[in-house]
Amino acid sequence: HAKAMGRGRAEHFTEILAAEIADRARLESDLREAVDKDQFTLVYQPQVSAGDGRIVAAEALLRWRHPDGLKMPGTFIQRAEETGLIVEIGEWVVESVAETISRWGRLGIQQRLAVNISPRQLDHASFFRKLREAMLAANAPAHLLELEITETLAMHCSSEVLEAIALLRHDGATIAIDDFGTGYSNIARLRKLPIDRIKLDRSLIEHVANSAEARTIAQALIGLIHGLNCEAVAEGIESEDQATVLRVIGCDILQGYAVATPMEEDAFLEWARGIEPQRIAG
Ligand code: C2E
Ligand code: MG
Ligand code: MG
Ligand code: MG
Repeated sequence: HAKAMGRGRAEHFTEILAAEIADRARLESDLREAVDKDQFTLVYQPQVSAGDGRIVAAEALLRWRHPDGLKMPGTFIQRAEETGLIVEIGEWVVESVAETISRWGRLGIQQRLAVNISPRQLDHASFFRKLREAMLAANAPAHLLELEITETLAMHCSSEVLEAIALLRHDGATIAIDDFGTGYSNIARLRKLPIDRIKLDRSLIEHVANSAEARTIAQALIGLIHGLNCEAVAEGIESEDQATVLRVIGCDILQGYAVATPMEEDAFLEWARGIEPQRIAG
């Protein structure tokens, strides 16, 4: 009996495995189609100055209009990286961001737009060339572009990539370290990196309003970030209490649902216009 049960489990396991493999294959072919059928879109999340609440930037975040419904990056980015499809997707993202910067410029909106870059994209020598071409083609000024690279990626990228980043920065683009606090940073290396902003990961923000320890850690990290001559950005702020604490401990820029959720372009522009009076009132 026990043997039979064991076999049953093994068969069950094989079934699960087969289903998983089929899912992955399906996702991959769907992703390929998505690139061809133009199913990707960007949403925009504001970043505001901690001091006066003015909008200082937005982060572009990828969404997939899958025939079965809207898909979040968490459900497909990893697969896109594994299959290398992220390179094509990333090219689409970068071109779209360049066009958005240009479109907003014509509307009189002069704020930074940040874009997320995956490790696999930076493996391709053509990435920076294509990025530059996209910005030139759209007539988008480089100083309105910010690249977000994760802490882990920043710790491991090659000297060629660092040189390309330095060139881009020379053009006026800025660099932000994303998800800071989730990887292992070598502070000496961090000091040598050509970076402008460091984004404290949501996991570091989560407890700042109810834990003295969490608040002390966040404050120390903000001190470190300022010591590196960078601006501190807090991501994933979900409550007004968290925002208040972050203002008090010297964080420069706030981003999170408590400020605004990521929005489609029209809603984003309306939101940005809506905070205009506040801007005038100071
Ligand atoms: P990320 O760059 O760290 O982006 C922040 C994520 O947190 C976004 O999730 C955003 O919607 C979410 N978020 C913002 N405020 C809050 C908050 O107050 N609470 C919570 N719980 N979440 C908040 P999203 O859009 O699902 O993106 C997830 C990740 O996917 C991003 O993390 C980024 O690593 C990656 N990603 C997004 N768009 C792109 C892209 O165009 N290219 C690449 N390569 N990666 C992307
Ligand atoms: Mg990001
Ligand atoms: Mg992040
Ligand atoms: Mg992330």
